[in-house]
Amino acid sequence: MTTVVLMGPPGAGKGTHAELLAGKLGVPVVSTGDIFRAQVAAGTELGRTAQGYLDAGEYVPDEVTNAMVCDRLAADDARPGFLLDGYPRTLDQAAVLDKLLTDQGRVLDAAVVLLVDQEDLVRRLLHRAKIEHRSDDTEDVIRRRLQVYADQTVPLVSLYGERDLLHEVDGTGDVAEVRERILAVACAIQP
Ligand code: ADP
Repeated sequence: MTTVVLMGPPGAGKGTHAELLAGKLGVPVVSTGDIFRAQVAAGTELGRTAQGYLDAGEYVPDEVTNAMVCDRLAADDARPGFLLDGYPRTLDQAAVLDKLLTDQGRVLDAAVVLLVDQEDLVRRLLHRAKIEHRSDDTEDVIRRRLQVYADQTVPLVSLYGERDLLHEVDGTGDVAEVRERILAVACAIQP
């Protein structure tokens, strides 16, 4: 039973490395960003609620996000554990996750954070915008997403640091280099 959260600012590479890390740990990836985008694409009620927030670079309200994640984590495939990609991002979400784990007699094993400096992030996201056409990859929205991360999520990274759960990974360099660092962290989490 392994429960890990993968954190990092927009563009740090969470989506690129989540499957590798999860595969090593033997757990599924639960990506809140992917779930929201799928709901938007499917035109569900949740998608309609989320879309405005995604397009503006704002976080979807905690009660909406928390309910969605609790629902997803109740599925059978999450029984051996899970890698959360992009959740929690606020202190309130972290409290909900702690409670969910406590209720199941579990603890959070690790918080992996990918570190990349700000201008590099903007460059990567603008480059991705040309390829993927995500509605939130315009320069204004990118800067807003980075600000929201700094305001709402960095305090949570500090909290996990105080709880001795943090594994910092240098997210700069090419994908292969970061992969090696992620593999080393996977071994440290689950020797
Ligand atoms: P990125 O980290 O590059 O911004 P994600 O795909 O992880 O990309 O998230 C895209 C968007 O989905 C966020 O900007 C936000 O609107 C929404 N979102 C994802 N995860 C959360 C969360 N835990 N809480 C609130 N909103 C979220």
